[in-house]
Amino acid sequence: MPIILIEEQGPRDGFQVEKKPIPTEMKVRYVEALVEAGLQRIQITSFVHPKFVPQMADAEEVCSHVKKQDGVLYSGLVLNAKGVERAVRAGLNHVAASISASDTHSRKNANKSLEEAQTEFEEMLRVAKAEGLRVRGGVQCAFGCRYEGKISEKVVLELAKRHLDLGVDEIALADSTGMGNPDAIKRVMTQVVQWADGRPVALHLHDTEGKGMANMLAGIEAGVTIFDTAFGGLGGCPFIKGATGNIATEDAANMLHQMGVQTGIDLRRVAALSQEMETFLERKLPGRMKDVLQMDLAMI
Ligand code: MG
Repeated sequence: MPIILIEEQGPRDGFQVEKKPIPTEMKVRYVEALVEAGLQRIQITSFVHPKFVPQMADAEEVCSHVKKQDGVLYSGLVLNAKGVERAVRAGLNHVAASISASDTHSRKNANKSLEEAQTEFEEMLRVAKAEGLRVRGGVQCAFGCRYEGKISEKVVLELAKRHLDLGVDEIALADSTGMGNPDAIKRVMTQVVQWADGRPVALHLHDTEGKGMANMLAGIEAGVTIFDTAFGGLGGCPFIKGATGNIATEDAANMLHQMGVQTGIDLRRVAALSQEMETFLERKLPGRMKDVLQMDLAMI
Protein backbone atom coordinates (compact mmCIF):
# COMPACT_ATOMS: atom_id res chain seq x y z
CA MET A 1 0.00 0.00 0.00
CA PRO A 2 1.13 3.58 -0.60
CA ILE A 3 2.17 5.90 2.22
CA ILE A 4 -0.80 8.07 3.12
CA LEU A 5 -0.51 11.33 5.02
CA ILE A 6 -3.38 12.82 6.97
CA GLU A 7 -3.53 16.60 7.23
CA GLU A 8 -5.43 17.71 10.32
CA GLN A 9 -7.65 20.69 9.56
CA GLY A 10 -9.82 20.80 12.67
CA PRO A 11 -8.14 23.94 14.01
CA ARG A 12 -9.04 25.76 10.78
CA ASP A 13 -11.93 24.15 8.90
CA GLY A 14 -13.37 22.91 12.19
CA PHE A 15 -13.05 25.92 14.43
CA GLN A 16 -13.97 28.50 11.76
CA VAL A 17 -17.66 27.57 11.75
CA GLU A 18 -18.17 27.32 15.49
CA LYS A 19 -20.29 30.09 16.95
CA LYS A 20 -18.95 29.66 20.47
CA PRO A 21 -15.68 31.60 20.71
CA ILE A 22 -12.75 29.23 21.22
CA PRO A 23 -10.05 30.89 23.34
CA THR A 24 -6.66 31.27 21.65
CA GLU A 25 -4.86 29.25 24.33
CA MET A 26 -7.31 26.40 23.79
CA LYS A 27 -6.65 26.43 20.03
CA VAL A 28 -2.91 26.34 20.72
CA ARG A 29 -3.32 23.46 23.15
CA TYR A 30 -5.34 21.47 20.58
CA VAL A 31 -2.78 22.04 17.82
CA GLU A 32 0.02 20.86 20.09
CA ALA A 33 -1.98 17.88 21.37
CA LEU A 34 -2.91 16.79 17.83
CA VAL A 35 0.75 16.88 16.83
CA GLU A 36 1.59 14.86 19.95
CA ALA A 37 -1.06 12.36 18.83
CA GLY A 38 0.96 11.80 15.64
CA LEU A 39 -0.35 14.29 13.08
CA GLN A 40 2.55 15.29 10.84
CA ARG A 41 0.67 17.94 8.91
CA ILE A 42 -1.73 20.41 10.43
CA GLN A 43 -3.56 23.49 9.17
CA ILE A 44 -3.62 25.74 12.20
CA THR A 45 -5.52 28.82 11.04
CA SER A 46 -6.58 30.97 8.11
CA PHE A 47 -5.60 34.52 7.27
CA VAL A 48 -8.97 35.90 6.28
CA HIS A 49 -10.85 39.03 7.22
CA PRO A 50 -11.96 38.82 10.88
CA LYS A 51 -15.21 40.56 9.97
CA PHE A 52 -16.20 37.58 7.82
CA VAL A 53 -14.68 34.77 9.92
CA PRO A 54 -14.44 36.08 13.50
CA GLN A 55 -13.21 32.77 14.90
CA MET A 56 -9.97 33.14 12.90
CA ALA A 57 -9.22 36.68 14.10
CA ASP A 58 -6.39 35.40 16.32
CA ALA A 59 -4.43 33.79 13.43
CA GLU A 60 -1.18 35.57 14.28
CA GLU A 61 -1.42 34.75 17.99
CA VAL A 62 -2.10 31.08 17.31
CA CYS A 63 0.97 30.93 15.04
CA SER A 64 3.23 32.66 17.52
CA HIS A 65 2.14 30.58 20.52
CA VAL A 66 2.20 27.08 19.03
CA LYS A 67 5.43 25.28 19.95
CA LYS A 68 6.55 23.92 16.60
CA GLN A 69 7.94 20.40 16.36
CA ASP A 70 10.61 19.39 13.87
CA GLY A 71 9.35 17.39 10.92
CA VAL A 72 5.78 18.66 11.27
CA LEU A 73 4.21 20.83 8.59
CA TYR A 74 2.20 23.77 9.96
CA SER A 75 0.05 25.43 7.33
CA GLY A 76 -2.34 28.36 7.04
CA LEU A 77 -5.14 28.95 4.56
CA VAL A 78 -4.96 32.11 2.45
CA LEU A 79 -7.46 33.52 -0.03
CA ASN A 80 -5.56 36.62 -1.16
CA ALA A 81 -2.08 38.13 -1.31
CA LYS A 82 -2.65 40.07 1.88
CA GLY A 83 -3.27 36.76 3.63
CA VAL A 84 0.06 35.45 2.30
CA GLU A 85 1.86 38.50 3.69
CA ARG A 86 0.22 37.92 7.07
CA ALA A 87 1.25 34.25 7.00
CA VAL A 88 4.85 35.24 6.25
CA ARG A 89 4.91 37.71 9.15
CA ALA A 90 3.38 35.03 11.39
CA GLY A 91 6.33 32.78 10.62
CA LEU A 92 4.63 30.05 8.58
CA ASN A 93 6.61 28.48 5.77
CA HIS A 94 3.72 26.72 4.06
CA VAL A 95 0.43 28.17 2.86
CA ALA A 96 -2.63 26.67 1.25
CA ALA A 97 -3.67 29.17 -1.41
CA SER A 98 -7.09 28.29 -2.57
CA ILE A 99 -9.70 29.44 -5.07
CA SER A 100 -13.16 28.11 -5.78
CA ALA A 101 -14.27 26.39 -8.97
CA SER A 102 -17.72 27.89 -8.41
CA ASP A 103 -18.16 31.53 -9.34
CA THR A 104 -21.03 31.96 -6.82
CA HIS A 105 -19.11 30.36 -3.94
CA SER A 106 -16.04 32.42 -4.87
CA ARG A 107 -18.05 35.64 -4.62
CA LYS A 108 -19.43 34.64 -1.21
CA ASN A 109 -16.25 33.11 0.23
CA ALA A 110 -13.57 35.39 -1.23
CA ASN A 111 -15.61 38.32 -2.51
CA LYS A 112 -14.24 37.73 -6.01
CA SER A 113 -15.50 36.38 -9.31
CA LEU A 114 -13.82 33.19 -10.51
CA GLU A 115 -11.77 35.20 -12.99
CA GLU A 116 -10.68 37.73 -10.35
CA ALA A 117 -9.81 34.85 -8.02
CA GLN A 118 -7.55 33.33 -10.68
CA THR A 119 -5.66 36.60 -11.02
CA GLU A 120 -5.42 36.80 -7.22
CA PHE A 121 -4.09 33.23 -7.13
CA GLU A 122 -1.17 34.22 -9.36
CA GLU A 123 -0.45 37.12 -7.02
CA MET A 124 -0.63 34.85 -3.96
CA LEU A 125 1.81 32.43 -5.56
CA ARG A 126 4.17 35.23 -6.60
CA VAL A 127 4.28 36.74 -3.09
CA ALA A 128 4.63 33.34 -1.41
CA LYS A 129 7.44 32.21 -3.71
CA ALA A 130 9.27 35.53 -3.31
CA GLU A 131 9.22 34.89 0.45
CA GLY A 132 10.44 31.31 0.06
CA LEU A 133 7.20 29.68 1.16
CA ARG A 134 5.96 26.34 -0.05
CA VAL A 135 2.54 26.54 -1.61
CA ARG A 136 -0.35 24.12 -1.81
CA GLY A 137 -2.62 25.19 -4.64
CA GLY A 138 -6.24 24.45 -3.88
CA VAL A 139 -9.48 24.19 -5.80
CA GLN A 140 -12.61 24.44 -3.64
CA CYS A 141 -16.06 23.15 -4.58
CA ALA A 142 -14.34 20.84 -7.06
CA PHE A 143 -17.11 18.25 -6.97
CA GLY A 144 -20.25 20.31 -6.67
CA CYS A 145 -21.62 23.58 -5.34
CA ARG A 146 -24.75 24.12 -3.25
CA TYR A 147 -25.47 27.31 -5.19
CA GLU A 148 -24.58 26.20 -8.71
CA GLY A 149 -25.12 22.45 -8.49
CA LYS A 150 -22.80 20.35 -10.61
CA ILE A 151 -19.43 21.90 -11.37
CA SER A 152 -17.96 21.12 -14.77
CA GLU A 153 -15.08 18.64 -14.52
CA LYS A 154 -13.46 20.50 -17.40
CA VAL A 155 -13.39 23.74 -15.37
CA VAL A 156 -11.98 21.94 -12.33
CA LEU A 157 -9.31 20.17 -14.33
CA GLU A 158 -8.32 23.40 -16.08
CA LEU A 159 -7.90 25.14 -12.71
CA ALA A 160 -5.83 22.28 -11.33
CA LYS A 161 -3.66 22.21 -14.46
CA ARG A 162 -3.20 25.97 -14.25
CA HIS A 163 -2.08 25.73 -10.60
CA LEU A 164 0.43 23.03 -11.56
CA ASP A 165 1.71 24.99 -14.57
CA LEU A 166 2.18 28.03 -12.34
CA GLY A 167 4.51 25.96 -10.14
CA VAL A 168 2.66 25.05 -6.93
CA ASP A 169 4.52 22.59 -4.69
CA GLU A 170 1.45 20.45 -4.20
CA ILE A 171 -2.14 20.46 -5.36
CA ALA A 172 -5.35 19.89 -3.42
CA LEU A 173 -8.88 19.44 -4.66
CA ALA A 174 -11.63 20.07 -2.14
CA ASP A 175 -15.03 18.48 -2.05
CA SER A 176 -16.16 21.39 0.09
CA THR A 177 -19.82 20.43 -0.13
CA GLY A 178 -19.53 16.64 0.12
CA MET A 179 -21.33 16.27 -3.20
CA GLY A 180 -18.53 14.26 -4.80
CA ASN A 181 -18.90 10.56 -5.50
CA PRO A 182 -16.27 7.83 -5.86
CA ASP A 183 -16.57 7.68 -9.67
CA ALA A 184 -16.06 11.42 -10.12
CA ILE A 185 -13.27 11.50 -7.53
CA LYS A 186 -11.44 8.64 -9.22
CA ARG A 187 -11.80 10.09 -12.71
CA VAL A 188 -10.71 13.63 -11.83
CA MET A 189 -7.97 12.69 -9.38
CA THR A 190 -6.39 10.12 -11.72
CA GLN A 191 -5.91 12.92 -14.24
CA VAL A 192 -4.61 15.38 -11.62
CA VAL A 193 -2.13 12.81 -10.25
CA GLN A 194 -0.87 12.23 -13.78
CA TRP A 195 -0.37 15.95 -14.42
CA ALA A 196 1.20 16.48 -10.99
CA ASP A 197 3.97 14.14 -12.14
CA GLY A 198 5.33 13.30 -8.69
CA ARG A 199 4.23 16.42 -6.86
CA PRO A 200 1.98 15.52 -3.90
CA VAL A 201 -1.76 15.48 -4.58
CA ALA A 202 -4.27 16.02 -1.78
CA LEU A 203 -8.01 15.59 -1.33
CA HIS A 204 -10.07 17.62 1.13
CA LEU A 205 -13.23 15.70 1.89
CA HIS A 206 -16.46 16.52 3.68
CA ASP A 207 -18.88 13.85 4.81
CA THR A 208 -22.02 15.92 4.25
CA GLU A 209 -23.78 13.19 2.26
CA GLY A 210 -22.11 10.23 3.98
CA LYS A 211 -19.69 9.52 1.12
CA GLY A 212 -16.53 10.81 2.77
CA MET A 213 -14.80 7.50 3.43
CA ALA A 214 -15.86 6.00 0.08
CA ASN A 215 -14.42 9.08 -1.58
CA MET A 216 -11.18 8.69 0.35
CA LEU A 217 -10.83 5.13 -0.90
CA ALA A 218 -11.49 6.29 -4.47
CA GLY A 219 -8.81 8.94 -3.97
CA ILE A 220 -6.29 6.36 -2.77
CA GLU A 221 -7.04 4.23 -5.83
CA ALA A 222 -6.40 7.28 -8.01
CA GLY A 223 -2.98 7.84 -6.40
CA VAL A 224 -3.81 10.62 -3.95
CA THR A 225 -1.44 10.50 -0.97
CA ILE A 226 -2.66 13.31 1.32
CA PHE A 227 -6.13 13.52 2.86
CA ASP A 228 -7.48 16.44 4.87
CA THR A 229 -9.51 15.48 7.91
CA ALA A 230 -10.71 17.10 11.13
CA PHE A 231 -10.74 15.52 14.58
CA GLY A 232 -14.22 14.51 15.67
CA GLY A 233 -15.52 15.30 12.17
CA LEU A 234 -15.57 19.03 12.88
CA GLY A 235 -15.76 21.34 9.93
CA GLY A 236 -17.76 23.28 7.41
CA CYS A 237 -17.67 26.47 5.45
CA PRO A 238 -19.43 29.62 6.67
CA PHE A 239 -20.39 30.37 3.07
CA ILE A 240 -21.83 27.02 1.98
CA LYS A 241 -25.45 26.23 2.73
CA GLY A 242 -25.75 23.09 4.84
CA ALA A 243 -22.01 22.46 4.97
CA THR A 244 -21.03 19.85 7.53
CA GLY A 245 -17.93 18.21 8.83
CA ASN A 246 -14.78 16.91 7.27
CA ILE A 247 -14.18 13.19 7.50
CA ALA A 248 -13.04 12.55 11.07
CA THR A 249 -9.29 12.17 11.56
CA GLU A 250 -9.68 9.18 13.87
CA ASP A 251 -12.16 7.46 11.53
CA ALA A 252 -9.89 7.89 8.51
CA ALA A 253 -6.85 6.68 10.47
CA ASN A 254 -8.80 3.69 11.77
CA MET A 255 -9.83 2.58 8.28
CA LEU A 256 -6.32 3.05 6.92
CA HIS A 257 -4.74 1.11 9.80
CA GLN A 258 -7.17 -1.76 9.24
CA MET A 259 -6.14 -1.76 5.58
CA GLY A 260 -2.50 -2.05 6.62
CA VAL A 261 -1.62 1.57 5.88
CA GLN A 262 0.24 3.20 8.75
CA THR A 263 -0.41 6.86 9.48
CA GLY A 264 1.52 7.31 12.72
CA ILE A 265 -1.66 8.60 14.36
CA ASP A 266 -2.65 7.48 17.85
CA LEU A 267 -6.39 6.95 17.41
CA ARG A 268 -7.19 6.96 21.09
CA ARG A 269 -5.48 10.26 21.75
CA VAL A 270 -7.28 11.93 18.85
CA ALA A 271 -10.59 10.40 19.95
CA ALA A 272 -10.05 11.71 23.49
CA LEU A 273 -9.53 15.22 22.09
CA SER A 274 -12.74 14.88 20.06
CA GLN A 275 -14.67 13.86 23.17
CA GLU A 276 -13.24 16.80 25.05
CA MET A 277 -14.28 19.14 22.24
CA GLU A 278 -17.84 17.75 22.32
CA THR A 279 -18.00 18.67 25.98
CA PHE A 280 -16.73 22.18 25.28
CA LEU A 281 -19.10 22.76 22.34
CA GLU A 282 -21.98 21.04 24.16
CA ARG A 283 -22.99 19.10 21.09
CA LYS A 284 -22.38 15.72 19.49
CA LEU A 285 -19.74 15.65 16.75
CA PRO A 286 -20.25 13.36 13.75
CA GLY A 287 -17.05 11.24 14.03
CA ARG A 288 -17.63 7.57 14.92
CA MET A 289 -14.45 6.20 16.45
CA LYS A 290 -14.59 8.46 19.52
CA ASP A 291 -17.88 6.71 20.40
CA VAL A 292 -16.67 3.23 19.42
CA LEU A 293 -13.57 3.58 21.57
CA GLN A 294 -15.64 4.83 24.47
CA MET A 295 -17.88 1.76 24.15
CA ASP A 296 -14.76 -0.43 24.10
CA LEU A 297 -13.53 1.12 27.30
CA ALA A 298 -16.93 0.72 28.94
CA MET A 299 -16.87 -3.01 28.10
CA ILE A 300 -13.50 -3.63 29.75
MG1 MG B 1 -13.55 22.45 4.01
